[in-house]
Parts: sequence; structure tokens; C-alpha cells
Amino acid sequence: MLIRSFNPPVRTLMGPGPSDVPPRVLEALSRPTIGHLDPAFITMMDEVKELLQYAFQTGNALTMPVSAPGSAGMETCFANLVEPGDKVVVCQNGVFGGRMKENVERCGGVAVTVEDSWGEAINSAKLEETLKVHKDAKIVAMVHAETSTGAQSDIAKLVKLAHAHGCLTIVDAVTSLGGTPVKVDEWEIDAIYSGSQKCLSCTPGLSPVSFNERALEKVRSRKSKVQSWFLDLNLVMGYWGEGAKRAYHHTAPINALYSLHEALLILREEGLDGAWDRHFKNHLALRAGLEAMGLLFVVNKADRLPQLNAVTIPEGVDDAKVRSRLLKEYNLEIGAGLGALAGKVWRIGLMGHSSRAENILLCIGALESVLGDMGANIKRGVALPAMQKAMGKR
Ligand SMILES: *Cc1c(COP(=O)(O)O)cnc(C)c1O
Repeated sequence: MLIRSFNPPVRTLMGPGPSDVPPRVLEALSRPTIGHLDPAFITMMDEVKELLQYAFQTGNALTMPVSAPGSAGMETCFANLVEPGDKVVVCQNGVFGGRMKENVERCGGVAVTVEDSWGEAINSAKLEETLKVHKDAKIVAMVHAETSTGAQSDIAKLVKLAHAHGCLTIVDAVTSLGGTPVKVDEWEIDAIYSGSQKCLSCTPGLSPVSFNERALEKVRSRKSKVQSWFLDLNLVMGYWGEGAKRAYHHTAPINALYSLHEALLILREEGLDGAWDRHFKNHLALRAGLEAMGLLFVVNKADRLPQLNAVTIPEGVDDAKVRSRLLKEYNLEIGAGLGALAGKVWRIGLMGHSSRAENILLCIGALESVLGDMGANIKRGVALPAMQKAMGKR
């Protein structure tokens, strides 16, 4: 077989991640590779840490990107904080809570789940009841932005509750960071992880994490070694820690870190308030168009994520065919349903650089024409005006 250089098609990414990567970030990725202990590189690493502290709104010294995707950030939190026999309460209202439970068990912990329906936010009263019953629980784990359903939970309130019952907290902010407020210090989150390819609009493959002193105290006082050598923070910090004595742990993904540096710089230039505001306003415009067409949201208004819009697929419509036509005819990717919602919903992402007026226009126009062409029961000719009105245009 003759194999040539791979040249990917240019797509518009409006799924659950990866999101569109801005040209500045791609250009940064292609700069010359240097050594992972080169003083110039170490200076850049310090800047990445500072930019991440801004993104997470934290002063935590242990704030850095794990050299692997969001799932590895998740695993870093559980592998370091859960010791064999530890009881961990996992709030589960979608796919990612299920993965947290799996992580707890693989670390030798005992998982107790608090389940909420898919599409709903985590119920704090249910968590409180569980914490009253399981007084020996040591950690509460929760997903801020459930990407499988588009629901957002009140992390500040849930963390307060966990602390009142003497538990540490692990928060999944993979889809929330950069798209909706995440305030690590103000909300007193103990351990948090995110991903590079969602609202940060960086290339996939890096997972920013942050641990406060309370969480580090638990890591330092472990009776057993962290079972993962690669993710053991005690070892990783020899490379990412403070000071000039940095030692080889693993070869950092040098160029990927250039791109994260650039993506975080773009976020700081816009400002978190600006980014949160843009995500929210664009969500309102997309929502106006989708609802005018007759598509229904899965999540109730109060708990909806601006960056992940889950809508139910109209009766009789072939899910895979619609997505494949959007891709072939419009170079547009939207997300399929995941887990219990597979085949029932579409997940339309407005994450990071994908959260732009031209993307909303393309998505509304392409969906209307494909669905209309397939004879779906939708209202035609009203989505664009509704979207324009929501954007304050006539
Ligand atoms: C995407 C996602 C993950 C996993 O991130 P990967 O980079 O795909 O490993 C974890 N949690 C949530 C909420 C996500 O949306």
C-alpha cells in the first residue's frame, strides 16, 4: 500500500471535545523541539504553572499538567489520594461519575455511590444523607460538568458539605475549565483535574491538575506507595516541582506543552470573565435556534452547561445518518449520545475556540437543511431569525 503524508480534512468541531484549535496554538506546536531539562524549557514550564493557576483561580503550588489526557488526570487524583480500604463517596449522574467509581475500586478503595438521573445536577440532600450514614468516608468525588448529559452541578455547595463531614474532595473539571466558573481556592476544592482539548481549545493529550495542602498532606502521609509509578506525585514533583534541582522523571511532551502555554495565554488575554461570558451568550444564541426548530434540551434550564448542549433526537430520525451527512456535506462534527443516552441525543459543543458566532450559524443552518431534507418533523425557516434575535441582531 502506498502511504503518503497524512493531511486531515479541515473540520468544524462542535462535539464534546476536542474543540477547534486556534491557529496560534497549532503554530506554537510546530516550534523547534528542545530538551526537557533545557533552561529555556524550564522557564516555560514555570509560566505554564502560573497560567494554570490563573485558569484554576488558585494559589496551589502543585498545579501542573499531567503528560496524558483527562483520564490520566482523573487517575492521578484517585491513585494518589485513595489508599486501600478508604471509603470514597462518588456522585454519579452520568458516564464520568461511573469512571470515578471504577478508579476508586482499582485503587483498592470502597466506593459508595450517590446516584442522580442522567441529565440532572448532583443532589446535595442525597449526598448529605449518604455522608450521615457513611461516617467513615474519607473522600467525596464529583463531576462539575457532566459531558455525557450537559448538566452542571453546584460544586461550591457540595464541597462545603463534604468538608463538614470531614472528607476531602476530588472534582472533575475537564469540560468546565475555561467555559464556566471554576474557583479552586474560593470553593476550597482539594484536588481537581481538567483536560486540554475542551474549553481550553488546546490539542488533546494533557491534563491540568491542582492539589491543595490538605490533599498533599494525605498523599505525604500514605501508609502504602502509590500503585502507579508514572502518576505518583511524589516522583512527578521531582520534575515539575519548585527550584532548580529538577530531575528526569519522564520526557515531557515538549511541543504539546508549547501549545498548552499558547492556549492558556489566549485565555488570559481574553480574561476568564470574558471567556465565561462569551460561552454563555453563544449558548443562548444556539439554544434559541435549536428550540425554534423544535429540538428539546435534555437538561432543565437552571442546570444547563453553556458549552455542552444535549438535545433529544426527533422521532424517527436516523442519528448516525444525520451526523455522517453533517460531516460529509458541511465538515461539521457534532457529538453522539454516550452510555444510557446513546442514540437518543446529540451533544453540541460550544467549547473554547468553537464557541463563535460563525460556528453557531453553520450548525443551525446545516442541521436545519439536513433534517429538513430527511423529512424530520422540525419547524423550518425560524431558527436563524431566532438565533439572530438572541444575538441582538435584526
Ligand atoms: C472528556 C472528559 C474526560 C476524559 O478526558 P480524556 O481527555 O478524554 O481522557 C473526563 N471527564 C469529563 C467530564 C470529560 O468530559
